[in-house]
Parts: sequence; C-alpha cells; structure tokens
Amino acid sequence: MKAVYIERTGGVDVLHYGDVPAPESGAGQAKVKVAASGVNFIDTYHRSGLYKLPLPAVLGSEGAGTVEAVSDGDSEFKPGDRVAWAMSRGSYAEYAAVPLKFLVKIPDGLEFRDAAAAMLQGMTAHYLTHSTFPLDKGQTALIHAAAGGTGRLIVQMAKILGARVIATAGSSDKAEVAREAGADKVIIYTEQDFVEETKRLTHGAGVDVVYDSVGQATFAKSLDCLRPRGMMVSFGNASGVVPPIEPLTLSQKGSLFLTRPSLAHYIATREELDWRARDVFRWIREKKLVLRVEHTYMLADAAQAHRDLEGRKTTGKLILLT
Ligand code: NDP
Repeated sequence: MKAVYIERTGGVDVLHYGDVPAPESGAGQAKVKVAASGVNFIDTYHRSGLYKLPLPAVLGSEGAGTVEAVSDGDSEFKPGDRVAWAMSRGSYAEYAAVPLKFLVKIPDGLEFRDAAAAMLQGMTAHYLTHSTFPLDKGQTALIHAAAGGTGRLIVQMAKILGARVIATAGSSDKAEVAREAGADKVIIYTEQDFVEETKRLTHGAGVDVVYDSVGQATFAKSLDCLRPRGMMVSFGNASGVVPPIEPLTLSQKGSLFLTRPSLAHYIATREELDWRARDVFRWIREKKLVLRVEHTYMLADAAQAHRDLEGRKTTGKLILLT
C-alpha cells in the first residue's frame, strides 16, 4: 500500500511517500481503509524527533475510513462500518490497523473528511474546556493561536459554555478567522503586547485560564495574563518546547496552577472517548461547531502540508486524502 513514512527524524525531507506492507488487524484491532487523515502538529513532532517513535514509522495520528476486518468477532465494529479515530498512529496511509478502543462510529450524514477533521482537535478542545479547566459563564479565557485547527475549536466550545474569549492570532486575516469563530476580542500578538492588551481588556484583573499551545514564545508572558489562582494550561509547543520553570514562580505570580495535559489521558476510557466524540459530532450536526477544512492535500503531498503548518501559513484544519 502507499503510505507516508520516516526512517529517521528531521525536517520535511525525511518524509517518504512509497510502498510499505499493509498492516493486518492484530488482537483488539480493526483494519481500516483510510479515506481521510487529519494533519496535526503532533505529526511534525513525530517527524522531527521531539516526540520519540520506534522507526521506521508511518505518520498520522487521526483518520476516518471504512472497517475492512476486525480481529475480535464480538466487537461492536463490523466490516463496512464508517469509523474515525485519534491518537493511534499510522493514518498517513491507505490502510491502518487501529485499536478498537480508539474507534468511534461516524454518524450518518458526516463526510469522512469532516469526521477526520473533528476527532483529534475536537476532542482536545472538549477536554481542555470541559475537564482540564471547566469553563463557565462569567469566566474569561485567553486562547492563543485561535485561528488554528485546535484554537478555532477551543474558541467555539468556550462560547458554547458561555465564557468570554480573548484570542490571539498572528495576522489580521487570522484575527478575522478567530472573530468568526466567536472570539469577543482578538489581539494580533505579532504586533501588540498581549499581556498589556489582556490586562486592559480585563481592567487589570487578568483571565481565569490561558490555553497556550504556542509554548516557548508565549509561556512566560501567559503567566502574567492570569488572575491570582488562575490556571495556565500549556498544551503544545508550536514555537518550541517550554523551558523548565521554578515552582516558586507560580507562587510569586499569584498562586497559579500549571498543567501540561495530553489528549491521551483524557480519552483513556471508552466512556470519556464516547462522551467527547458524541458531543463534538452532535455540535457539528447542530451547527454549534463549525469546522473549517481549509487545506486539502493528496497523501503524496504530506510534506507540503507539514511545510504549510509549521510555516504558520494555515488556518483551520489540514486534511490528507488517500
Ligand atoms: P495549528 O493549526 O494551531 O497551527 C499552529 C499555529 O501556532 C500556527 O498557525 C500559528 O498561528 C501558531 N504559532 C505561533 N508560533 C508559531 C511558530 N513559531 N511556528 C509555528 N506555529 C506557530 O496547529 P494544531 O491545531 O495542529 O496544533 C496546535 C497546538 O496544539 C500544537 O502545539 C499541538 O501540539 C497542540 N495540541 C496539543 C494537544 C494535547 O492534547 N496536548 C492535542 C492537539 C494539539 P499564529 O500565526 O496565529 O500564531
């Protein structure tokens, strides 16, 4: 089968498109014919070596397609089922062997492309706003990179929950995307000082929570945007890894809370996975959550997708079609 794989870590030139043996469904797995694969920043970390993988490895952490075979005859999943998944690697390929514990059925009426676009970033937005720091009416969140795949969805979920959203974005076009997603205020953080602006917009009080996926470039200043006892949710490294921090800093800046969460730990049980996926799919159907699949590439062009994502050239979601 055709797949995008790496034999060593590095820049986009380590991505190979070529033939590899198709996976078989092992115990507790389904073999899925992949129709669409989501492109996520985590794929660039796997490629660069920031997140370690046994090599060689087929990339891709999210997909949608049709079940071809299931090793477990008692499973609720059967050949022909339309399914989607996140956090199982190997979706940049024509076929993937996916653990059944990661699969969900795609509701009727939802295309593969949109199902693939909704899983990883949708469930991430869900756990961040519902579990890591459950947002409520009257609270204010600062959401970085709000025009991005994950950022747009966090903004929309924060608004579903009734919170006030201050968003950041890297350009005026991206600011418009964040505004369309529902952000109450947008700071263009490449031009404006986001600490000063956040203080101004909260009359000096600070925000209840910062959802920071940018990492190195924004981490320290994000702490200065929080109210006393606010929560810093550092959930990504788009600009680089956050350096070590002294716990005393959290005390000095207002007895802050700091967490560095991962989706894997928030969909660890079938109940949590189903809850998050069900809510995401329902809100898409009800049009409370609007996906923007802005960039569609053929599988063979995965390297261009990585270049665009890392080059800050994209808004919304990137998808590879097989
Ligand atoms: P995005 O679509 O958000 O793209 C990344 C965005 O980050 C860019 O568009 C850019 O927006 C911003 N950015 C700021 N500085 C840089 C930089 N130096 N280089 C590149 N981008 C930069 O990607 P994803 O939605 O796929 O992922 C966003 C982040 O969320 C990643 O850090 C990812 O690891 C994290 N994530 C974490 C999860 C978890 O469970 N912990 C799960 C899912 C995602 P702008 O130009 O507006 O600044």
